[in-house]
Amino acid sequence: MNPPPLAALSRRALLLGLSRAGGAALMLGVSPSAWALERAAAANAQPDIETLRVLRSRIELQFAPGFSPAVQAAARTWAITSADAVARYFGRFPVPKVELLLVPEAGSGVRTGVTYAEPSLLMRIRLGRDTTEAQFLDDWVLVHEMVHLAIPRVPRAQNWLHEGVATYVESVARARVGLVSAETVWREWAKAMPQGQPQAGDAGLDHTPTWGRTYWGGAMFCLLADVELLKRSQLRTGLQQALQGVLAAGGQYGVPWTVERILSTADAAVGQTVLTELYGRMKDSAEPVDLAGLWRDLGTAGGTLDDQAPLAHVRRAILV
Ligand SMILES: [Zn+2]
Repeated sequence: MNPPPLAALSRRALLLGLSRAGGAALMLGVSPSAWALERAAAANAQPDIETLRVLRSRIELQFAPGFSPAVQAAARTWAITSADAVARYFGRFPVPKVELLLVPEAGSGVRTGVTYAEPSLLMRIRLGRDTTEAQFLDDWVLVHEMVHLAIPRVPRAQNWLHEGVATYVESVARARVGLVSAETVWREWAKAMPQGQPQAGDAGLDHTPTWGRTYWGGAMFCLLADVELLKRSQLRTGLQQALQGVLAAGGQYGVPWTVERILSTADAAVGQTVLTELYGRMKDSAEPVDLAGLWRDLGTAGGTLDDQAPLAHVRRAILV
């Protein structure tokens, strides 16, 4: 998720619950009772802060009070593993410095994540106090939030690009480092991606801010772009290299760009116009995507991966 910024609210004050809690609850869009619980837990002690280094970047890992040492150790490994998957995809961690605030909740599992750009970059994850190592290994939320860091902020109407890239790249990045199998990713995409198809009344990606179009419509845009970029370049460059070009040009979550600028910068990085053309076709149009045909061509239709399919080489370039 990438909500509006926290304005000028001090993060430290937010964390410690020392001031302006009522206003903060409104700005954050959380219920006053949830806010009060978080505030009460945080007010009793200082957060436990440590710095993780990922290549040339620093992640300031902040534990709000309430985690056991064992969960903190497992969470540290999870943060490093997630950052490594993202850094391998983008060739570097997307930003030089970011805070990662972990807030405890009752129970187990990685719950929700939000990334803020202002006053400085912060990812906040709500995490069950009893989260197990297996649950950390299976988590996609943190990688998803870290991928958001690699894309400039866009106007709200075009959130589909942010959520689409985060949804699509999260799976690719985790599969490339072995956190999930390629077979599982293709199977899950086949199940989930139809939720991104236009429904009755759809007016194109820029005008249909439903959950399905935002997350899976955006992910479908990314898959179509990746396939086309790889086809046209004889597998030399795909969405990965195009997005690396955005980072190389200074684009990341700390700065606002237009969608047109992001996509033309990405295209230029790989000498193509695929992303801009695809955006032109999908932004104002409700035309459905032939997903069944795409799965057949990529060789993922039958539940097993088919290396005789016409675009099997493209599929392997995305995920081996
Ligand atoms: Zn998101």
